[in-house]
Amino acid sequence: MASYANERARLNRLVGIFGGTFNPIHVGHLRAAEEVAESLGLAQVLFVPAADPPLKRDGEVALAPASDRYHWVEAATASNPCFEVSAAEQGRSGPSYLVDTLRLLREELTPAELVFILGQDAFAQLDAWRAPEALPTLAHFAVVTRPPGGGSLSDWLPPSLAASVEVDASGQLARHRTAGTWIRRVPISAFDVSATDIRLRLRDGRSIRYLVPEVTREPIEKCDAYKGQPT
Ligand code: ATP
Repeated sequence: MASYANERARLNRLVGIFGGTFNPIHVGHLRAAEEVAESLGLAQVLFVPAADPPLKRDGEVALAPASDRYHWVEAATASNPCFEVSAAEQGRSGPSYLVDTLRLLREELTPAELVFILGQDAFAQLDAWRAPEALPTLAHFAVVTRPPGGGSLSDWLPPSLAASVEVDASGQLARHRTAGTWIRRVPISAFDVSATDIRLRLRDGRSIRYLVPEVTREPIEKCDAYKGQPT
């Protein structure tokens, strides 16, 4: 991340961290980041493409090269002055664990507070990630709704967090009992688009126009990784 962005992040308190495989980036990601930034008043959203996503290492999913996914995120976010892309996971060898990334970004961005942005589907699966109980002590969490949506934070709360966070009566906000961090449900416009669906369309030779930013469409269409099985 450029140093001016570090400086800007320091001057403002809340910085969004949007981690993902972005395999490939699509309009659902961009709209989620935009709406969280608007709704929580974030100074900046830092997209962090995973170089080697731990949960997608088994070869079951067609995975584009890390450098391609990174460049697509750069191209897709370039026109938004509030968006930046972090190479935090690019140079690191081995699986890209979020817990390591959040520790690193906390050091880099202090005194800004981090808000980790994720979909309700990912939040519900948090126990599959490394050190799940540590994650909401390192950053606030913005849990965005994703089709089919519905439910409250309690419905998606991963078991490992049940004892350490307290969900309020509205079901929209939870507080960590000791870390001073919060977890917020952030309702956003429903964009029923996923990277899985885009990879399926590419495999079948169908259009992905308007599902991905136009500036990235051709490079994504040409990516060899999406041409055969599996998706
Ligand atoms: P895949 O279909 O390959 O699992 P994905 O579309 O879920 O991919 P990821 O890069 O894995 O994309 O997602 C990064 C983050 O963005 C996750 O927290 C995910 O929940 C969230 N996200 C992805 N698509 C949407 C969407 N359409 N609406 C809201 N959140 C989304």
